[in-house]
Amino acid sequence: MPEEKMGRAWKELNMDNLRHNCEVICKLLPENCQLMPALKANAYGHGAVEVARELNAMGLSAFCVATLHEGVELRKNGIKGEILILGYTHPNEFYLLRKHRLTQTVLDSEYAKAINSYRHKIHVHIGIDTGMHRLGECSENIDNILEMFKCENLVVDGMFTHLCASDSMEKPFAEYTNAQILLFYGVVNEIKAQGIKCPKLHIQSSYGVMNYPELKCDYARVGIALYGLMSTQEDTEKCNLALRPVLSVKSRVSAVKNLAAGEFAGYGMEFEAPCDMKIAVLSIGYADGIPRSLSCGKGSVLIAGKKAPIIGRICMDQMSVDVTDIPFIRQNDIADIIGKSGNDVITAGDIAKQAGTISNEILSRLGGRLSLACKNKKNKYWTKLIYSVRIKIGAIL
Ligand SMILES: *Cc1c(COP(=O)(O)O)cnc(C)c1O
Repeated sequence: MPEEKMGRAWKELNMDNLRHNCEVICKLLPENCQLMPALKANAYGHGAVEVARELNAMGLSAFCVATLHEGVELRKNGIKGEILILGYTHPNEFYLLRKHRLTQTVLDSEYAKAINSYRHKIHVHIGIDTGMHRLGECSENIDNILEMFKCENLVVDGMFTHLCASDSMEKPFAEYTNAQILLFYGVVNEIKAQGIKCPKLHIQSSYGVMNYPELKCDYARVGIALYGLMSTQEDTEKCNLALRPVLSVKSRVSAVKNLAAGEFAGYGMEFEAPCDMKIAVLSIGYADGIPRSLSCGKGSVLIAGKKAPIIGRICMDQMSVDVTDIPFIRQNDIADIIGKSGNDVITAGDIAKQAGTISNEILSRLGGRLSLACKNKKNKYWTKLIYSVRIKIGAIL
């Protein structure tokens, strides 16, 4: 692994865990319902092409992304199957939909007309707004929806809605979700009543699958759960699925230095050593996606299985941690920013909590400067071995 040897900061994907998550989610879905992984935002920061390749190899053949160019990137890298664009595409770029065999969401009836006036056929899924009031034609406008099926340049392969409160089973949220589901199937029934062939249907995202697994659909658009966690650490812990995190983030120790009591470290004299101590400078910063709000002890990293609190202000490309209690640490060592080390673990959910957000945001904002290493079991074994030998030698010396 070149990253292991000389990278400054990198992501590691555990493809065994990705396959495992796929399997547990698929088991929860009704028969005939296919997983449609959400690969938007670079597969939630994981690397869309690498993740899609693995999923393609597992036999999955339907994906969704947020933007046209995310879809184009997957095609240019040889990803097969249906790729649905969930968001807006400018009419001037409709030609790219055809060129790369991408499927576009119909955002509303106005947009249906725009697609239809393009001179060629375009594959679409119709978005139905059942209460989120984001994208989709309002479920009440049934005539507008039926009209879309008559547009000669729209090849309607699917129809879907998005639930906006399915993450909670408390009464008001469950009621809202059930109302959304009813509105969607109301549209479906109307279409069938008109003798129109029903396209593929989908409703659930991760929380929809977790809380409403029984819905009769053709696809489930699953993002965050596929990557091995839910949006919050609490939800991940109480989730009925045995999910395993796919991604870890590591960074190089670029320097180790001693601070005497009363000395400062970092910008703004924010950190003053309360006693003689040892700090490690890490080659990762907020431009790599580490929230700056974890500065000054809010967040920690793991080094050799021990927690090292972040000291001072996180910089754009670097940050410092307290390693006073960690023996044998030296330049070129590796710190775990997200992931397991010894018996301890830091999850994207932990970081999200410290930063006041959800794990989806932490993952999807992981920066483009992080390189990517895809791991299998064999590699992991060797790193573990090298580490444990190092620690043993250190103990003898
Ligand atoms: C992002 C997104 C999903 C996936 O959501 P998760 O909660 O990550 O599973 C599904 N559908 C739509 C429309 C989305 O925007």
